[in-house]
Amino acid sequence: MDLFCYRDGVLFAEDVAVEHIAAEVGTPAYLYSRGTFVDHLHKMQEAYHELDTTICFSVKACTNLHILKLMAAQGSGFDIVSGGELYRALQAGADPAKIVYAGVGKTDEEIIQALQARIAYFNIESEQELENLGRLAQRYARAEVKAALRVNPDIDYQTHAYMTTGKKDTKFGVDIERALAVFEKYGRHRPVRLCAIHVHLGTGGKTIDPFVNAVEKILPLIDRLRQQGHEIEALNLGGGYAADYETQTVPSAGQYAAGLVPLLQDKGLKLVLEPGKSICANSAILLTRVLYVKQGGRKRFVIVDAGMNDLIRPSLYGAFHFLWPARVDSRFVPTTRSQKLSLDGCEVVDIVGPICEGADFLAQDRSFPPVQRGDLIAVFTAGAYGFTMSSNYNSRPRAPEVLVDGGRFQIIRRRETYEDLVAPER
Ligand SMILES: *Cc1c(COP(=O)(O)O)cnc(C)c1O
Repeated sequence: MDLFCYRDGVLFAEDVAVEHIAAEVGTPAYLYSRGTFVDHLHKMQEAYHELDTTICFSVKACTNLHILKLMAAQGSGFDIVSGGELYRALQAGADPAKIVYAGVGKTDEEIIQALQARIAYFNIESEQELENLGRLAQRYARAEVKAALRVNPDIDYQTHAYMTTGKKDTKFGVDIERALAVFEKYGRHRPVRLCAIHVHLGTGGKTIDPFVNAVEKILPLIDRLRQQGHEIEALNLGGGYAADYETQTVPSAGQYAAGLVPLLQDKGLKLVLEPGKSICANSAILLTRVLYVKQGGRKRFVIVDAGMNDLIRPSLYGAFHFLWPARVDSRFVPTTRSQKLSLDGCEVVDIVGPICEGADFLAQDRSFPPVQRGDLIAVFTAGAYGFTMSSNYNSRPRAPEVLVDGGRFQIIRRRETYEDLVAPER
């Protein structure tokens, strides 16, 4: 799961007590575990090694340059969704031959940048986009341009409505019938070689079933396309593999692969995967400090110094994050990370931030050990869509990012200053 564990009631990130880091960098702060990143990437690479697989880490889940460098050095490619992410990936030393580019609204500028960088595949989401790519490729391409058609297999991924992308009536991709027509119309055109299928079902699901269903719908499509003379070299299964927001409630990389690899063996397809949160969610905690404790009506509130501007997932998606104090008595050492964990002596509280919004909470009606002003609290599984979705709302400088490696740690993004807030307005 990850390398954030209690030792004698004190929370450690790898071999460093998190309170030690807080004393140095302040709170709120994102703390990443290098070992957890590498472990998750390696497990995924290992799980699919029987197939010709490229793992393309989804940059939007965790964009820090140092993290991308680390992933690139371990052989990861990248899934990008904007020109800014392309820039980051290249700055991190990514191999362009392992970059895939998705997104329904790529601008001309972004497409030209990606053409010039010679990325591996453009994941195409509409016919107009494909035509535009062809037009720009004629002028700017310096090598063969390959595209994957994003197909929407109409699968209910059973997650929050904002996190499902593989249903027929989302804005993403084209449906299966339309895919045949798109290949018929554009499949033999150059300079863009349409030679792969991309699917991305969504994020936040907890079983492998949607992936198996998607592959079972896509393989017959690929067969038909091949019968019609189209050369299909790769299948990109997107991202959306689950992370352990709670202890052992979702499939491991090995379990996903056990369901998927047999379906894809001997199909003459390269496999591309775009994992985001399954790699990075467990690789970080958000560390925050208790400012005040107060009673409001019948509710008990713990007010902390991290708000929805630092971590928006609870407010935006109703997402569950396990929270726990960074130092506890032996009777409060958590035995598991679960929505249901309740230990003798816990009290029910809402843990809320300082932002002027009713939606600014990290946890509601949570059974929690008694805490006091000044105590540190860890928000677990905060490495995906945590810092990357943070903002300056309420003119709050964004938190620093710290990378822990064994017994050492390094600031990989400094805390923003007030001057950073106003610099673009000067
Ligand atoms: C966001 C996204 C991903 C990553 O999703 P996770 O749930 O973080 O694994 C992969 N591919 C595409 C196209 C995406 O938009």
